[in-house]
Amino acid sequence: MIPINRFGHAMTDQPAKPRLLLHICCAPDEAWVVHTLAADYDLRCFFCNPNIQPLEEYNKRCAEAAKTAGHYGVPFDADVYKPQDWEDAVKDLLDTPEGGARCEQCFLLRLRQTARFCKNIGWSAFTTVMSISPHKRIEMLNKTGTIAAEESGVRYEPFNFKKNDGFLNSIRLSKELGLYRQDYCGCRLSKAERDDRKKAHHGDAEDTEKSKK
Ligand code: SF4
Repeated sequence: MIPINRFGHAMTDQPAKPRLLLHICCAPDEAWVVHTLAADYDLRCFFCNPNIQPLEEYNKRCAEAAKTAGHYGVPFDADVYKPQDWEDAVKDLLDTPEGGARCEQCFLLRLRQTARFCKNIGWSAFTTVMSISPHKRIEMLNKTGTIAAEESGVRYEPFNFKKNDGFLNSIRLSKELGLYRQDYCGCRLSKAERDDRKKAHHGDAEDTEKSKK
């Protein structure tokens, strides 16, 4: 009889645990997912995020993700950083809001590259830790992951890491591990939105101070 792990997945890839490649977007999400799955899967992390700008931020998130994989003893690879890939993928969608068509193409780009990597290393299944975020729609992730998987002849596992308070747990665990938590999604547009929010908040604070005087 084929053994089934607690997530309902057949453990057929190898005698011990099934292999699962994890697309990693950042260390806090990675930490909780690795913590959750490590007992049931043979994991490997793949940091693939041409969306992140600027380079300094990319390097910071990548280094933190590598450190987290090391903490859990999980192999880690990072794709070559090619921000132009993201620019090309979303060039006609720059005026769409976060969570819309621009993000769908951004997911597709990253999951396509992850699916190709999965195929190249001879593994048969991958997923992404991005589903932990309340800002990332699970239907959009599952759709783009499935398209990417089919194109490369591998399998996308549609985990929803939001379940069981995944996001709150990732915050708690990343605090315990002292991990860097970014305050914008990644692309230059989300950074600009973050900067606007900060400015507006700063303006509100100044108005409050003035009204006290
Ligand atoms: S907001 Fe996030 S998911 Fe959407 S395009 Fe920017 S980096 Fe990608």
